[in-house]
Amino acid sequence: MSATLRFNVVGAAFKKQPVEVATPKERPSEFFAKYVFTRDKMYKYLPADIYAKMVDVMDNGATLDLQTADAVAEGMKQWAISLGATHITHWFQPLTEGTAEKHDGLIEYDGKGGVLEEFTGKQLVQQEPDASSFPSGGIRSIFEARGYSAWDPASPVFIIGDTLMIPTIFISYTGVALDYKAPLKKALHAVDKAATSVAQLFYPEVKKVMSNLGWEQEYFLVDEDIYAARPDLIMTGRTLMGHDSAKNQQMDDHYFGAIPERVAAFMRDLEIQALELGIPCKTRHNEVAPNQFELAPIYEETNVAVDHNMLMMMLMRKVARKHGFRCLLHEKPFAGVNGSGKHNNWSLATDTGVLLHAPGKTPLDNLRFVTFIVETLMAVWRHNGLLKASIVSATNAHRLGANEAPPAIISSFLGKQLTEVLEHLEKTTDSEIALSGKKELHLDIPQIPELLIDNTDRNRTSPFAFTGNRFEFRAVGSEANCASAMIALNAAVAEALTDFHDRVSALTLAGTDTHAAILKVVREDIRACKPIHFEGNGYSDEWREEATRRGLDTEASCPLVIDRYLDKSSVDMFGRMNVFSIDELHARNEIKWETYTKKVQIEARIFGDLCLNHIIPVATRYQSVLIDNVHKLSSIFPPEQAQSIAANNLSLIQQISEHSNYISAHVAELIEARRVANRIASERDKAIAYHDTVAPMLESIRYHVDKLELIVDDEMWPLPKYREMLFVR
Ligand code: ADP
Ligand code: MG
Repeated sequence: MSATLRFNVVGAAFKKQPVEVATPKERPSEFFAKYVFTRDKMYKYLPADIYAKMVDVMDNGATLDLQTADAVAEGMKQWAISLGATHITHWFQPLTEGTAEKHDGLIEYDGKGGVLEEFTGKQLVQQEPDASSFPSGGIRSIFEARGYSAWDPASPVFIIGDTLMIPTIFISYTGVALDYKAPLKKALHAVDKAATSVAQLFYPEVKKVMSNLGWEQEYFLVDEDIYAARPDLIMTGRTLMGHDSAKNQQMDDHYFGAIPERVAAFMRDLEIQALELGIPCKTRHNEVAPNQFELAPIYEETNVAVDHNMLMMMLMRKVARKHGFRCLLHEKPFAGVNGSGKHNNWSLATDTGVLLHAPGKTPLDNLRFVTFIVETLMAVWRHNGLLKASIVSATNAHRLGANEAPPAIISSFLGKQLTEVLEHLEKTTDSEIALSGKKELHLDIPQIPELLIDNTDRNRTSPFAFTGNRFEFRAVGSEANCASAMIALNAAVAEALTDFHDRVSALTLAGTDTHAAILKVVREDIRACKPIHFEGNGYSDEWREEATRRGLDTEASCPLVIDRYLDKSSVDMFGRMNVFSIDELHARNEIKWETYTKKVQIEARIFGDLCLNHIIPVATRYQSVLIDNVHKLSSIFPPEQAQSIAANNLSLIQQISEHSNYISAHVAELIEARRVANRIASERDKAIAYHDTVAPMLESIRYHVDKLELIVDDEMWPLPKYREMLFVR
């Protein structure tokens, strides 16, 4: 990259016009889910008995026999061909980032020398992708060499381009999960089972409880040409160097500001495509940082919501390129401005339409409300370290604990009203609870105003905040698969609800009235989970000290936080809830540590190259220009006068030497630190070494690079600068 190229690139980016987006003639309600094999399409394309069987499979988890699968595949094929599909793929979520697919043509020999379109139930239900290149943390070598993908009928198939995409789980032949979807489905099953039993204490007619997820995806857009001139962005997704722009987000003028035209065209295009794929996009706006935006659909059942988020990230990357942008999903692409998260709005709801985390109108509804709130808090309290482990990554680590994002301590904010309700309940004693007569129940539960939803005081520093009818898990990273957080949260809540139900049952068996028993257990738990409840400023130093006193997990080192998966409490909980075996937990942790190491390793390599091949040569060239100037000055002025005239340049020459020397010496140290770390055999210890020795050096060396950026002639500087990356669109 030469300096002229940099200016050309930035200049060209400035001149770009919005890309025309063909607006569909129909309304969104008409083209919504156009490319999804929804129930109404199943109804149309499947024989009546097959349709009925599929409904049983989707709603009740009934097993799918091959004969039914064949019939479903036939109908699916007719539908897919009518939309131009020629290929199918099993679409799955391996433990690396993103999704994976393997495409097969829909053709078979017809036996008469030609081919015909064929798609069988077997192809629909199961495939064997070459699994050996996906990380398995040693699982496959322990158990079995091959893995296979299996259709998840709970998530509808869809068409992208010419391909019918089939959402699948990805497991080894012995049933060990090699992906995110398989354990997510188990966690959702566990929470359904536990929450249904508890919900039935209030509403006996409940048969099923769903977990809801509404994610809010934050992202940055950078002009594609400028992106191409930043090797660090291309290779690592973030800028490893770059001085602050004089103006960044101080004015807060971007947040909710007018959406720039090119970006608006991108958003419109993205939304149309997402709606056609059945993703119920609803909200879009600018975010706090320049060139940062957010997109949020309406919440959905968690399994489908996770698939939709993975699909959305794929679409965002694709559509951005069409509009001459690159979409950055990294949690912290730019130092000094806000990073990106993915708030996970989460709640439970019954098949009868009750939102279990929302207050109701009757005292009974409110007892139910308090029960689900308190048992969620119990789960978060008991497993706060694990929940943090579910959201940490090498990339999210740059955001956690920084000033805009949730701190590296999990706590829960409830707001004034809910806090008062819980305090009141805790203080009342059994005798105050008037259980007048046998039939008419009077519980001393304070009225809970319906205003709660709009009225909850917002505390942006809380990683797990109650927001009126749901909890908002805000620590999830923008690039992450939400499933990781959703597995831990739903499984932990399933455990809390199971324990709750057991304790209530023990009391009722001993003769206590059901509702009195519920209140008694709720009251105990309000006291027990108090340490997780925090209304204050999550970034303050006092909170860190206070949290330590409360016994909350305050570890900030990513490789060490990952240990929480192997705590006895986690292993027991995942085992009891039938989500992960201990072998799976070990294997998955190996992958997490390995991934952490690889990320930092790649950053360190790119960073070293940039320093040695871009920064130091340019700084030296500029220094030579200055030296030349000093020489020339001394040839026309007498020595003393020349000294004073050249004073500024002499000082710059000196500064450039100091920074350059620091950089080259420490890049050598960085390379050595990597070499030492690479020799460590244990994945965990290697990740710790990368965290403790390599990662901090990137920061300390960067300081000097960024100083050089301020000194060196702008015309020579090879990399697009922050002001160019953040404000051009
Ligand atoms: P914010 O004010 O945090 O931006 P929004 O009103 O935009 O919140 O909603 C954020 C997300 O939360 C959306 O996806 C929305 O559908 C979802 N949401 C709303 N209510 C619930 C709920 N009860 N359970 C789960 N998600 C919900
Ligand atoms: Mg939100």
